[in-house]
Amino acid sequence: MDKLPIPVVVREVGLRDGLQSLATVMPTARKLEWLRAAHAAGQREIEVGSFVPAKLLPQLADTAEVLACASTLPGLLASVLVPNLKGAQQAIACGADAVVVPVSASRAHSLANVRKTPEEAVAEFARIRAARDASRSKMILEGAISTAFGCTIQGRVAPGEVMRLMQALLDAGADRVSLADTVGYADPASVRRLFEKALAIAGPRLCGGHFHDTRGLALANVFAALELGINRFDASLGGIGGCPYAPGASGNVASEDLAFMLESMGIATGIDLSALLALRARLAGWLEGETLHGALWRAGLPKTFVPAA
Ligand code: ZN
Repeated sequence: MDKLPIPVVVREVGLRDGLQSLATVMPTARKLEWLRAAHAAGQREIEVGSFVPAKLLPQLADTAEVLACASTLPGLLASVLVPNLKGAQQAIACGADAVVVPVSASRAHSLANVRKTPEEAVAEFARIRAARDASRSKMILEGAISTAFGCTIQGRVAPGEVMRLMQALLDAGADRVSLADTVGYADPASVRRLFEKALAIAGPRLCGGHFHDTRGLALANVFAALELGINRFDASLGGIGGCPYAPGASGNVASEDLAFMLESMGIATGIDLSALLALRARLAGWLEGETLHGALWRAGLPKTFVPAA
């Protein structure tokens, strides 16, 4: 086994990826409570929302307010998801530390989702880079390749297409790129193959993985990427999220389960697991009627558990 990376960042995306697919609209005050508690539990990278039109995603209409609160928390890197230049300009104006710009490797998904071909999405990314540079902002630009392992509309997505898109994003000025299994199509072998190719193209600019647990393989997929030295993974508290095409499907890998796996393996995450489990219990109360996922909360931490130093 290759030497595993230490530390590893568990980037919390529940406030964005999780909440955007739930019917419940969480009040802003609750989101701020969640944000502060996640920070107190040791989470240092949090995706706080998305700058998209409120009529499309009313769940995230208060992103500017959540971001303003995030910027008061010491040591926190707050990111937002933006689909286009307009969203990126809002992120710059609001002082986001990073933006995640999703670009779909599946042509069919890209057209259905943002009515752009992947090439048009890359051209928009280049405009975002130009706007960032012109504003002298230090905001980090991450090109996140979604549906990198398969797509519910198109089915197979050719690895060659994914790599071509990654190279185009790097050429368009991405500070970082990442690979996302948006709908739970990946397995550890496909993760290893694609991340190996991506590392050859992007080197240290390949910053992380985003795995949904739709079919129960998210932790195994994280491990496959971890073995290649990848040290940042998205996760959502209580595994909230889901898939618009599969009612009842689980969302991102659960933050608490991922942090538990890493800490048990001696890989520091900076997260206080007891505090995170307590926050998950509060989240379950806030989201009554919604399905939460994950495993650690059922039995709690084992008696033998020792957090990584
Ligand atoms: Zn996702």
